Amino acid sequence: MSLYRDTGAVVARGIIPGATRALLRAGSLLLDTLLPPDCPSCHGDVDRAGHFCPTCFRQLTFIADPCCARCGQPFVSASFGGARMICAPCEETPPPWHAGRAALVYDEWSRRLILGLKYGDRTELAPILAAHMGRIGRSMLDRADIVVPVPLHRRRLFGRRYNQAALLAWALARQARIAVGPDTLVRVRATAPLARLGRAARRDILRGVIAIRPTRRDAIANRRVVLVDDVMTTGATLGECTRVLLAAGAASVDVLVAARAPAPDEALHPEKSAVSRERYAVAR
Ligand SMILES: [Zn+2]
Ligand SMILES: [Zn+2]
Repeated sequence: MSLYRDTGAVVARGIIPGATRALLRAGSLLLDTLLPPDCPSCHGDVDRAGHFCPTCFRQLTFIADPCCARCGQPFVSASFGGARMICAPCEETPPPWHAGRAALVYDEWSRRLILGLKYGDRTELAPILAAHMGRIGRSMLDRADIVVPVPLHRRRLFGRRYNQAALLAWALARQARIAVGPDTLVRVRATAPLARLGRAARRDILRGVIAIRPTRRDAIANRRVVLVDDVMTTGATLGECTRVLLAAGAASVDVLVAARAPAPDEALHPEKSAVSRERYAVAR
């Protein structure tokens, strides 16, 4: 596994002696003095690098419990999730992964950060978002063997130069001190955006699009995988990646994303679904 092991994890696991750690701390303090840390969102002054300023922190919608155990959708109250803490859409069509968590609601504010990471070369946002993902996904990371990102087609990779999901996976693996498999999954062909398509059409388009790299099969067999992406919208791509990992022999797959789109019917019109109508009445 050493090939897969992030060297940062080895360093963090206590191989650095105390004196060196103190020096590194002093170095970081010196750096903060020379280059004062700024808010990752608005670039205003903050006390510590990687922290949002109070104004931006208030605008971002961080997801905390209670939320759906399968897709991370936040609930208005614990009773909204029923006895098993599962939202109505997940109850009606369970996703193929085991547990799912998201750090932020995908809205105007988190979109700025995600787009900055995705298209704006703001790679410094990866460890900041990963820290929040690690917090909400702690239990799944504690039981995981390896972190695997949703792959980007090589044509897109060529245009953007990096896969934002892989950067998040690297940062998470380093922070959680577990292995990372950045090239475990490959996208065999590019697909158009799926958000406007129906469930069946999305499934058809995605069939055969994701594959496991043959040389990485051994690293996945019997391993507990945390699958990572920047945004969960329909969950179709994450679902296809999960099916491929399970078919390759993964012991389990959990899903962890930086932000998830609110399910409009659930979040805004809970009366539209029979299951949520019942729960909404209980929650109120
Ligand atoms: Zn700010
Ligand atoms: Zn759900």
